[in-house]
Amino acid sequence: MLKLHILLTLLFLPLFSSAQNITIAPENIIQGDPVMITIDRAVKRVTFDNTNVSTFTYNKKTSGLIPISLTKKPGDYIFKIELKDGRMMEKTITVKERKEIEAPLGIPEKLGGNTTASQNNLVSTLSKENASLENIKTDSKALWSKAFKFPLKEQIITDPYGYNRKTGEYTITHKGTDFRAKEGTKVMAMNAGVVRSARIFSIYGNTIVVDHGLGLQTFYMHLSKINVKVGDTVRAWQIIGLSGQTGYAESPHLHTTVRINGISIDPMRFMEFFK
Ligand SMILES: [Zn+2]
Repeated sequence: MLKLHILLTLLFLPLFSSAQNITIAPENIIQGDPVMITIDRAVKRVTFDNTNVSTFTYNKKTSGLIPISLTKKPGDYIFKIELKDGRMMEKTITVKERKEIEAPLGIPEKLGGNTTASQNNLVSTLSKENASLENIKTDSKALWSKAFKFPLKEQIITDPYGYNRKTGEYTITHKGTDFRAKEGTKVMAMNAGVVRSARIFSIYGNTIVVDHGLGLQTFYMHLSKINVKVGDTVRAWQIIGLSGQTGYAESPHLHTTVRINGISIDPMRFMEFFK
């Protein structure tokens, strides 16, 4: 018996490493959340739900960020980790349903007011603007090393991420966080990166997109002033523009979007990784 036990131990121990070396945040995951995996071992490959995860070093540990989209089916999903020494590790996470919150939202007079024609126009313009902000180039390595910071010195949330805005017969999901910011408030890049877009849109207003590499990007919208241009390298917390109310905005505020691999996740949950 003892021989068999030793044999079994020898067979299985090298194949599966203890999962104690893996940290996953947040603890409770809901649709729209970002997920950060941290592995305290030399890693060869990480997959999530059978898709490769790009890894980078943060706080001296191998880390990976994945987005849980608002439409991801609630349930269990598996991280598989192949270590450099050949051992395999696994960790299962459970994605829970996000409660849907709905609120009516009118169309400002400058965009035609609350008429069916201006609602149709808003939705078709929005889909064009969204298309031009998709598939934005991202660097093949992480361009940041310090913790992310909020784009404004003071954070008062006026509109949270993930609720549905009813505009006429349309439902537009708010995929970012709005912060109160009086006209002309300094807006900072949330971390180091490269500017991939800096232009005006009719709905999003003056918009800046900063790429932080490996599919991680931050968006700053409705600005009154843009201080950077496409291709500029920005330092962490560099002032990149001033807040405003250009585009579809009823009052001055800063709309912030955080995207991972093209999926807009909850910026406030993302910032919890850096507390
Ligand atoms: Zn917004």
